[in-house]
Amino acid sequence: MKGKLIIISAPSGSGKTTIVNHLLHQGLNLNFSVSATSRKPRPGEENGKNYYFLTREEFQKKINNDEFLEWEEVYKGICYGTLKSEVDKIRESGKNVIMDVDVVGGVNIKKIYGKEALSIFVKPPSLTALKERLQKRSTETPAKIKMRIDKAAEELLFAGKFDAVIINDNLQIALNEAEKLVSDFISRH
Ligand code: ADP
Ligand code: 5GP
Repeated sequence: MKGKLIIISAPSGSGKTTIVNHLLHQGLNLNFSVSATSRKPRPGEENGKNYYFLTREEFQKKINNDEFLEWEEVYKGICYGTLKSEVDKIRESGKNVIMDVDVVGGVNIKKIYGKEALSIFVKPPSLTALKERLQKRSTETPAKIKMRIDKAAEELLFAGKFDAVIINDNLQIALNEAEKLVSDFISRH
């Protein structure tokens, strides 16, 4: 049987990566779908593990060859996309796919896969908390943090388009909720 899809979307800094990493270690038969991006790697990020880091030209070539299930210019000049090959490879091995995509990508992938996909929106407790988390994570320059926060208010309006919303205030509660949602979904026939 082909695996199912778990889509995790949220404004940057809401806790998607933290939640996805937790879920990957819960024996849920999940594999992470590595996206392609034209942004530069952050310290510690590895090509093929966190993302496939491509130049703008390489990214464009994959668009032209119809290699993406979906792709978006999430921030000005920076593209991210889900590769068809990545999702197919995981599903065909009988594993479930977990993906971290922006809110537009999340809605689009859910539309393609319908009941085979569970879409989860991760909501920060407030925009102030989001800003504090991004500043504390300190992986982006102040200008890039501003760009992410400016986009967050608009992204929050997408919450209602998802199958479930998790509020990531207390991390342990959010992790438990995510685990329950995913384990119920994948054990359903
Ligand atoms: P995203 O992948 O959505 O950009 P991250 O998972 O990187 O978000 O989380 C952003 C930052 O906030 C990280 O430094 C993370 O450790 C921290 N964080 C995540 N969840 C919480 C929480 N519930 N309370 C406080 N800090 C959190
Ligand atoms: P970051 O630069 O923080 O890793 O990611 C920025 C944003 O790009 C996040 O909202 C993340 O979910 C989104 N993203 C990552 N991969 C994809 C993808 O394949 N498609 C889409 N549409 N968005 C993605």
